[in-house]
Amino acid sequence: MKKLTTLAVLATAVLAATSVLAADFPIKDKPITIVVPFSAGGPTDRVARDLAEALRKPLGAIVVVDNAAGAGSSIGSNKVAKATPDGHTLLLNHIGMATMPTLVRNVPFKVESDFEYLGMVNDVPMTVIGKPSLPANNFKELTAWIAQNKGKINLGNAGVGSASHLCGLLLQNALQVDMTTVPYKGTAPAMTDLIGGQIDLMCDQTTNTTSQIEGKKVKAFGVTTTKHLKTPALKDLPTLQESGLKGFEVTIWHGLYAPKGTPPDVLAKINNALKSSLKDPEFIRKQEGLGAIVVTDKRVEPAEHKKFVATEIAKWSPIIKAAGVYAD
Ligand code: ASP
Repeated sequence: MKKLTTLAVLATAVLAATSVLAADFPIKDKPITIVVPFSAGGPTDRVARDLAEALRKPLGAIVVVDNAAGAGSSIGSNKVAKATPDGHTLLLNHIGMATMPTLVRNVPFKVESDFEYLGMVNDVPMTVIGKPSLPANNFKELTAWIAQNKGKINLGNAGVGSASHLCGLLLQNALQVDMTTVPYKGTAPAMTDLIGGQIDLMCDQTTNTTSQIEGKKVKAFGVTTTKHLKTPALKDLPTLQESGLKGFEVTIWHGLYAPKGTPPDVLAKINNALKSSLKDPEFIRKQEGLGAIVVTDKRVEPAEHKKFVATEIAKWSPIIKAAGVYAD
């Protein structure tokens, strides 16, 4: 009997603590941190910083970005999976949430059960880009150059399990060539090396490549979507399918997540703030300028986003397995 009473007191205390937490969210003077699992200055970081700015007003809090880069996003994602579930630590990650479990064997967290899904942010195409000194000027010339330089080509990426890893693996598979992959903590440092000619090629989101393509700092060879892009600097780029890579299609999306156990009222507050941020004209303008398409459909709802991630896992896992493109 005594044991039962103690349990009941404990349960009441936990409940009280949780509801106080929900009512008080955001906690006064405590910033909300969006963890970005890639380096500062890269495409995921870019989305997170624009979103952090847009979220400030609807959340009534300071929103900061923490770059916890490395291991193709698993370090930062794991940090959030293990963080205090009070709504003050969030994760912004991309398609890696769906592809990493198949691409990488030993992921230290469970994508489906270690997070609360808050909603999706945007869809972002990728581009195949090369160092400025590459002699090729279009995809046909690029494939000829690749064929002539077999065994000597370096392909940058943001580590195993990243979007650039996935796209690079699919590209090598489609072209039937092996390249030496050079992993970075994000495609921001990889871009620096591509511009400097230390690596030859990369596949990366338009949120990182648009201004470099526009400024002619890198060469662009194609987009990974099935349609041409609207962004002025990218609208003439052929799709990889048009260039002969049958069925090649990768679109990167970004979503927002909280640690499992974050109280439902807190999640609802963040989701409402996310929805108003996605309607913020300034956020939309910035994202569209970088080739990203801000989500306007039901995938902004937590349950719908979770369903969408599950369909992405189901979509990518056989493709990755059939291509035999795992990493240990
Ligand atoms: N674009 C990177 C990737 O390949 C991530 C980043 O640096 O933001 O996943």
